[in-house]
Amino acid sequence: MAQLDVRQKLEILADAAKYDASCASSGTAKRNSRDGKGIGSTEGMGICHAYAPDGRCISLLKILLTNSCIFDCHYCINRKSSNVRRARFTAEEVVNLTLAFYRRNYIEGLFLSSGIIKSSDYTMEQIVEVARSLREHHHFRGYIHLKTIPDADPELIHQAGLYADRVSINVELPTVSGLKRLAPEKDNGRIEGAMRGMKTAMLDATDAKARYKSAPRFAPAGQSTQMIVGADAATDGDIVSKASTLYDRFSLRRVYYSAFSPIPDASAVLPLQRPPLMREHRLYQSDWLMRFYGYDAKEVVAAADERTGMLPLDIDPKLAWALKFREHFPVDINRAPREMLLRVPGLGTKAVKNILAARRWRRLRLDDVARLTVSVAKLRPFIVAEDWRPVLLTDRAELKPLVAPKREQLELFAA
Ligand code: SF4
Repeated sequence: MAQLDVRQKLEILADAAKYDASCASSGTAKRNSRDGKGIGSTEGMGICHAYAPDGRCISLLKILLTNSCIFDCHYCINRKSSNVRRARFTAEEVVNLTLAFYRRNYIEGLFLSSGIIKSSDYTMEQIVEVARSLREHHHFRGYIHLKTIPDADPELIHQAGLYADRVSINVELPTVSGLKRLAPEKDNGRIEGAMRGMKTAMLDATDAKARYKSAPRFAPAGQSTQMIVGADAATDGDIVSKASTLYDRFSLRRVYYSAFSPIPDASAVLPLQRPPLMREHRLYQSDWLMRFYGYDAKEVVAAADERTGMLPLDIDPKLAWALKFREHFPVDINRAPREMLLRVPGLGTKAVKNILAARRWRRLRLDDVARLTVSVAKLRPFIVAEDWRPVLLTDRAELKPLVAPKREQLELFAA
């Protein structure tokens, strides 16, 4: 590996990290250094945010320890057979960079991942060393998200949880067959085993904290994972089902979906084109339906096309479900329980909360509901209000064009 200075390494290793989407810093415990001790804070004041070229908000120093790897996952630009420039930080260099960026207020924390060098254990040791040094030597109280390596010694993965706010283990592909084909050195059983270990350690830590105030924290922002969308033949139904299983079994905080983007010098087994970005967006919407709107995975999958297993791209999955299962509508805004209000296309959780609060005082009219939503046209066929009842509108075959968002040609130079 050529001798590179820190700036050159940063260029390579920050660029190599951009393919990982699982770096949101939400949900950790509040911690700061206002008492004059230590440095850093997990709270957002005065922190700069950056945007990756693909539009994702990143306010973390998001880097790899190295982009060298002994594995050869087909979809990964850092795989062993890839012809890319390689670089490697020492643990000390990552620590110094994190502190320097933090002091300049460029970042709110660190997201550290890595290719696998020498062995999974050796790599995990290096990752843990960065977090240990930041926390123990420098009393860094900012946010740390560590990628863990499922094959590593469980004790090392446990240590990662003691220093990090969030840990993540990528499942990468939604089906076992996809993983075998595109990442033959990875093993679904080991990935899920590591997730299970993390879940148990988090439960133990919560339990210990309830009994002893001085018990150590363990990954207070939980664990997350990422799935690549469109690199294999998995359908949206497969992806939604897998995500739901992961949430249920391992209490994940988040599943991130990352549309596969063709990489330079790509392996021949990969598709030549990336899937539509809208597909990734629809999967995020499905994820919200399961986490905040009370849908189970089977219901979301039922909104997909029965033949292809894919969610429609032209309408959101909630609207798709409502159009397919019209027998549940119209919903009476003045009487329906919260769980049914949440199923009305166009009503978000905030609007439902406001409706429930307002109807305690009076019966709501269509205008009242319109004031709480962006588009009353979308929800009109699905609700009954004091002065409104759709006349068998939900039976109409041409309902979809009436409620689907209009396609618009965007103006290049719009103000
Ligand atoms: S193990 Fe990680 S870094 Fe290495 S090739 Fe696979 S996805 Fe890429």
